[in-house]
Amino acid sequence: MKILVPVKRVIDYNVKPRVKADGSGVDLANVKMSMNPFDEIAVEEALRIKEAGNAEEVIAVSVGPAKAAETLRTALAMGADRAILIETDETVEPLAVAKLLAKVAAEENPGLILLGKQAIDDDSNQTGQMLAALLGWGQATFANTVTVEAGSITVARDVDGGLQTVKLNTPAIVTTDLRLNEPRYASLPNIMKAKKKPLDTKTPGDYGVDITPRLTTLKVAEPPVRSAGIKVADVDALVEKLKVLGVGA
Ligand code: AMP
Repeated sequence: MKILVPVKRVIDYNVKPRVKADGSGVDLANVKMSMNPFDEIAVEEALRIKEAGNAEEVIAVSVGPAKAAETLRTALAMGADRAILIETDETVEPLAVAKLLAKVAAEENPGLILLGKQAIDDDSNQTGQMLAALLGWGQATFANTVTVEAGSITVARDVDGGLQTVKLNTPAIVTTDLRLNEPRYASLPNIMKAKKKPLDTKTPGDYGVDITPRLTTLKVAEPPVRSAGIKVADVDALVEKLKVLGVGA
């Protein structure tokens, strides 16, 4: 079985995003970019499945600018076998990404596509679901545990208040949640080795997919600044304040 892992280059999770002065979007100039954290978890899970002898090849795919090749090299350094960059400088919405991934899936015939549950830049949480619909495959989102058997995949999903376990026939779509695993760091020798692994570069046009956005961003705004707190003299004063606010009522 081949496993396809779509990885997105996003603003690093440690960076506090700044909104552009004209409110048209987030300022990405000179900002540290990294692999979407949920996608690191997806790469890790794919590698564990391969290491357990349940997959032969892990292929990382990214849709984005030329610099997304760095993100793919990170996936290769973690242990992926090869990578595909679908290069574009345009904004690509989840539906366009899903359509491109569906084309890659048609070429590669993976038994499993492991995505992140969401990209931390747009927080869409749509791509995996749309891809499952386009391909007509079963899907398990928010995976907490993934168990691969011949012809099927069992996934325990994080749901409100517990876990839901579902069984999917392969080929299938799984999206990762935070507790699935702890991704490995790439070692220096593996970073060097990754430079020699195959990385194919394509364009959306090569797949015949129209990536024109369907949404117009009207405005991006910073969250309101938190107003300063006050100090209370003692516990009684605190309880009085809480009563006024109706806390614990
Ligand atoms: P989203 O639906 O945008 O929240 O993204 C969910 C998941 O889809 C991500 O965690 C990635 O696995 C995948 N994905 C989204 N956008 C891209 C992209 N441009 N390139 C590769 N994978 C992507």
